[in-house]
Amino acid sequence: MQSRRLAAVMRMREGDAFIVFCGDGREWGARVESMAKTGIEVTVTELVRQAPLPSLVVEAWCGLVRPNRFDWAIEKFVEAGADVIRPLVSEFSARGEGASRARTERWTRIAVEAAEQSGRLFLAVVEEPQSFDVLLARARQMPVVVAHQAGESWRSISPLLPAAGAVALAVGPEGGFSDDEIARARAHGALLVSLGPHILRTETAIVVATAMLRASL
Ligand code: SAH
Repeated sequence: MQSRRLAAVMRMREGDAFIVFCGDGREWGARVESMAKTGIEVTVTELVRQAPLPSLVVEAWCGLVRPNRFDWAIEKFVEAGADVIRPLVSEFSARGEGASRARTERWTRIAVEAAEQSGRLFLAVVEEPQSFDVLLARARQMPVVVAHQAGESWRSISPLLPAAGAVALAVGPEGGFSDDEIARARAHGALLVSLGPHILRTETAIVVATAMLRASL
Protein backbone atom coordinates (compact mmCIF):
# COMPACT_ATOMS: atom_id res chain seq x y z
CA MET A 1 0.00 0.00 0.00
CA GLN A 2 2.83 2.42 0.84
CA SER A 3 4.44 1.73 -2.56
CA ARG A 4 1.18 2.61 -4.28
CA ARG A 5 1.11 5.78 -2.22
CA LEU A 6 4.62 6.70 -3.35
CA ALA A 7 3.58 6.33 -6.96
CA ALA A 8 0.03 7.62 -6.98
CA VAL A 9 -0.13 10.20 -4.22
CA MET A 10 3.41 11.45 -3.98
CA ARG A 11 4.03 11.08 -7.74
CA MET A 12 7.49 9.70 -7.20
CA ARG A 13 9.73 8.94 -10.15
CA GLU A 14 12.93 7.00 -10.52
CA GLY A 15 15.81 8.82 -8.85
CA ASP A 16 13.55 10.83 -6.49
CA ALA A 17 14.58 11.04 -2.85
CA PHE A 18 12.19 10.71 0.08
CA ILE A 19 12.16 10.14 3.83
CA VAL A 20 11.15 6.82 5.39
CA PHE A 21 9.27 7.07 8.67
CA CYS A 22 9.79 3.96 10.80
CA GLY A 23 8.05 4.89 14.02
CA ASP A 24 10.87 3.37 16.05
CA GLY A 25 12.80 6.55 16.77
CA ARG A 26 14.60 6.72 13.43
CA GLU A 27 13.99 8.37 10.09
CA TRP A 28 15.87 7.32 6.96
CA GLY A 29 16.65 8.94 3.63
CA ALA A 30 15.76 6.81 0.62
CA ARG A 31 15.75 6.95 -3.18
CA VAL A 32 13.48 5.38 -5.77
CA GLU A 33 15.54 3.06 -7.97
CA SER A 34 12.88 1.65 -10.25
CA MET A 35 9.11 1.62 -10.53
CA ALA A 36 7.02 -1.16 -11.99
CA LYS A 37 3.40 -2.30 -11.69
CA THR A 38 4.57 -5.13 -9.49
CA GLY A 39 6.35 -2.89 -7.02
CA ILE A 40 8.90 -0.21 -6.36
CA GLU A 41 12.57 -0.72 -5.66
CA VAL A 42 14.14 1.74 -3.29
CA THR A 43 17.54 2.18 -1.71
CA VAL A 44 17.74 3.37 1.87
CA THR A 45 20.56 5.90 1.84
CA GLU A 46 21.24 7.34 5.28
CA LEU A 47 19.96 7.88 8.79
CA VAL A 48 18.44 11.37 8.79
CA ARG A 49 17.09 11.74 12.32
CA GLN A 50 17.20 9.69 15.46
CA ALA A 51 15.71 10.34 18.88
CA PRO A 52 16.04 8.52 22.21
CA LEU A 53 12.90 7.03 23.71
CA PRO A 54 10.88 9.83 25.35
CA SER A 55 11.64 9.94 29.07
CA LEU A 56 7.94 10.35 29.92
CA VAL A 57 5.33 8.11 28.33
CA VAL A 58 1.94 9.81 28.25
CA GLU A 59 -1.15 7.61 28.21
CA ALA A 60 -4.38 9.19 27.00
CA TRP A 61 -7.43 7.49 28.51
CA CYS A 62 -10.15 9.07 26.44
CA GLY A 63 -13.88 8.50 26.88
CA LEU A 64 -15.35 6.95 23.75
CA VAL A 65 -17.40 9.41 21.77
CA ARG A 66 -18.94 9.45 18.29
CA PRO A 67 -16.60 8.03 15.65
CA ASN A 68 -15.76 11.28 13.86
CA ARG A 69 -15.04 13.04 17.15
CA PHE A 70 -12.88 10.23 18.46
CA ASP A 71 -10.93 10.13 15.17
CA TRP A 72 -10.29 13.85 15.50
CA ALA A 73 -9.16 13.39 19.11
CA ILE A 74 -6.62 10.72 18.17
CA GLU A 75 -5.12 12.86 15.44
CA LYS A 76 -4.80 15.84 17.77
CA PHE A 77 -3.55 14.23 20.95
CA VAL A 78 -0.94 12.25 19.04
CA GLU A 79 0.28 15.59 17.66
CA ALA A 80 0.22 17.04 21.16
CA GLY A 81 2.32 14.16 22.49
CA ALA A 82 0.28 11.17 23.72
CA ASP A 83 2.08 7.84 23.33
CA VAL A 84 -0.49 5.24 24.38
CA ILE A 85 -4.18 5.60 23.58
CA ARG A 86 -6.64 3.78 25.77
CA PRO A 87 -10.28 4.30 24.78
CA LEU A 88 -12.22 4.46 28.01
CA VAL A 89 -15.68 3.15 28.81
CA SER A 90 -17.41 4.40 31.93
CA GLU A 91 -20.79 4.56 33.62
CA PHE A 92 -22.17 7.35 31.42
CA SER A 93 -20.63 6.18 28.14
CA ALA A 94 -23.19 6.29 25.36
CA ARG A 95 -24.26 2.88 24.17
CA GLY A 96 -22.98 1.78 20.83
CA GLU A 97 -19.72 3.71 21.14
CA GLY A 98 -17.73 0.50 21.40
CA ALA A 99 -14.87 -0.58 19.23
CA SER A 100 -14.91 -2.89 16.27
CA ARG A 101 -11.90 -4.35 14.55
CA ALA A 102 -12.37 -1.89 11.69
CA ARG A 103 -12.57 0.99 14.12
CA THR A 104 -9.39 -0.03 15.95
CA GLU A 105 -7.53 -0.39 12.65
CA ARG A 106 -8.72 3.03 11.63
CA TRP A 107 -7.52 4.53 14.92
CA THR A 108 -4.08 2.99 14.38
CA ARG A 109 -3.95 4.42 10.86
CA ILE A 110 -4.86 7.88 12.14
CA ALA A 111 -2.20 7.63 14.86
CA VAL A 112 0.47 6.70 12.27
CA GLU A 113 -0.52 9.58 9.98
CA ALA A 114 -0.55 12.05 12.87
CA ALA A 115 2.92 10.91 13.92
CA GLU A 116 4.25 11.34 10.37
CA GLN A 117 2.61 14.70 9.95
CA SER A 118 3.83 16.13 13.25
CA GLY A 119 7.43 14.96 12.96
CA ARG A 120 7.23 12.48 15.82
CA LEU A 121 9.78 9.70 15.56
CA PHE A 122 7.89 7.21 17.74
CA LEU A 123 4.50 5.80 16.92
CA ALA A 124 1.65 6.02 19.39
CA VAL A 125 0.02 2.73 20.29
CA VAL A 126 -3.75 2.28 20.25
CA GLU A 127 -5.05 -0.24 22.80
CA GLU A 128 -8.44 -1.94 23.13
CA PRO A 129 -11.17 -0.06 25.02
CA GLN A 130 -11.32 -0.76 28.75
CA SER A 131 -13.52 0.28 31.63
CA PHE A 132 -12.28 3.17 33.77
CA ASP A 133 -12.16 0.90 36.84
CA VAL A 134 -9.99 -1.68 35.09
CA LEU A 135 -7.64 1.03 33.84
CA LEU A 136 -7.35 2.48 37.34
CA ALA A 137 -6.73 -0.93 38.88
CA ARG A 138 -4.01 -1.68 36.34
CA ALA A 139 -2.31 1.70 36.74
CA ARG A 140 -0.72 0.74 40.10
CA GLN A 141 2.40 2.93 40.39
CA MET A 142 1.55 5.15 37.45
CA PRO A 143 0.23 8.61 38.42
CA VAL A 144 -3.25 9.19 36.98
CA VAL A 145 -4.53 12.69 36.28
CA VAL A 146 -8.31 12.86 35.89
CA ALA A 147 -9.75 15.90 34.11
CA HIS A 148 -12.54 17.13 36.35
CA GLN A 149 -14.13 20.54 36.34
CA ALA A 150 -14.01 20.83 40.12
CA GLY A 151 -10.39 19.67 40.27
CA GLU A 152 -7.22 21.55 41.25
CA SER A 153 -5.51 24.00 38.94
CA TRP A 154 -2.89 22.66 36.55
CA ARG A 155 -0.32 24.83 38.30
CA SER A 156 -0.91 23.10 41.63
CA ILE A 157 -0.74 19.53 40.34
CA SER A 158 2.12 20.11 37.92
CA PRO A 159 4.91 19.86 40.55
CA LEU A 160 3.53 16.45 41.60
CA LEU A 161 4.00 14.95 38.14
CA PRO A 162 7.14 12.99 37.29
CA ALA A 163 9.42 14.07 34.43
CA ALA A 164 10.20 10.45 33.60
CA GLY A 165 8.33 7.15 33.62
CA ALA A 166 4.65 7.23 32.71
CA VAL A 167 1.57 9.33 33.42
CA ALA A 168 -2.05 8.73 32.47
CA LEU A 169 -4.51 11.48 31.57
CA ALA A 170 -8.16 10.47 31.90
CA VAL A 171 -11.11 12.27 30.33
CA GLY A 172 -14.70 11.15 30.65
CA PRO A 173 -17.26 10.60 27.87
CA GLU A 174 -19.84 13.22 26.87
CA GLY A 175 -21.87 12.34 29.96
CA GLY A 176 -18.83 12.92 32.20
CA PHE A 177 -17.64 10.70 35.05
CA SER A 178 -20.16 9.74 37.73
CA ASP A 179 -19.65 10.97 41.31
CA ASP A 180 -18.82 7.37 42.28
CA GLU A 181 -16.17 7.13 39.59
CA ILE A 182 -14.61 10.39 40.75
CA ALA A 183 -14.66 9.10 44.34
CA ARG A 184 -13.01 5.83 43.27
CA ALA A 185 -10.38 7.73 41.29
CA ARG A 186 -9.67 9.86 44.35
CA ALA A 187 -9.42 6.75 46.54
CA HIS A 188 -6.97 5.29 44.05
CA GLY A 189 -4.80 8.36 44.51
CA ALA A 190 -5.56 10.03 41.18
CA LEU A 191 -4.99 13.77 40.87
CA LEU A 192 -8.07 15.70 39.78
CA VAL A 193 -7.32 18.65 37.55
CA SER A 194 -9.46 21.43 36.14
CA LEU A 195 -8.83 22.58 32.59
CA GLY A 196 -10.48 25.96 33.02
CA PRO A 197 -13.89 27.46 33.70
CA HIS A 198 -15.84 26.07 30.71
CA ILE A 199 -17.26 22.65 29.94
CA LEU A 200 -15.06 21.16 27.25
CA ARG A 201 -16.09 18.37 24.98
CA THR A 202 -14.31 15.09 25.62
CA GLU A 203 -12.08 15.42 22.58
CA THR A 204 -11.18 19.01 23.42
CA ALA A 205 -10.38 18.13 27.03
CA ILE A 206 -8.00 15.26 26.16
CA VAL A 207 -6.10 17.39 23.63
CA VAL A 208 -5.83 20.32 26.06
CA ALA A 209 -4.67 18.03 28.89
CA THR A 210 -2.03 16.36 26.70
CA ALA A 211 -0.68 19.68 25.46
CA MET A 212 -0.63 21.14 28.99
CA LEU A 213 1.34 18.15 30.25
CA ARG A 214 3.86 18.11 27.42
CA ALA A 215 4.30 21.87 27.53
CA SER A 216 4.86 21.88 31.29
CA LEU A 217 7.80 19.45 31.13
N1 SAH B 1 -21.82 16.40 30.77
C1 SAH B 1 -20.73 16.64 31.64
C2 SAH B 1 -19.54 17.18 30.89
C3 SAH B 1 -18.70 16.12 30.34
S1 SAH B 1 -17.39 16.79 29.44
C4 SAH B 1 -21.11 17.68 32.66
O1 SAH B 1 -22.02 18.46 32.40
O2 SAH B 1 -20.46 17.72 33.68
C5 SAH B 1 -16.45 15.33 29.18
C6 SAH B 1 -15.20 15.22 30.01
O3 SAH B 1 -14.32 16.26 29.69
C7 SAH B 1 -15.39 15.30 31.51
O4 SAH B 1 -15.70 14.04 32.06
C8 SAH B 1 -14.01 15.77 31.98
O5 SAH B 1 -13.13 14.67 32.12
C9 SAH B 1 -13.55 16.63 30.82
N2 SAH B 1 -13.76 18.07 31.03
C10 SAH B 1 -14.62 18.87 30.36
N3 SAH B 1 -14.49 20.15 30.77
C11 SAH B 1 -13.52 20.16 31.70
C12 SAH B 1 -12.90 21.18 32.50
N4 SAH B 1 -13.28 22.45 32.44
N5 SAH B 1 -11.94 20.81 33.36
C13 SAH B 1 -11.55 19.53 33.47
N6 SAH B 1 -12.09 18.52 32.75
C14 SAH B 1 -13.05 18.82 31.87
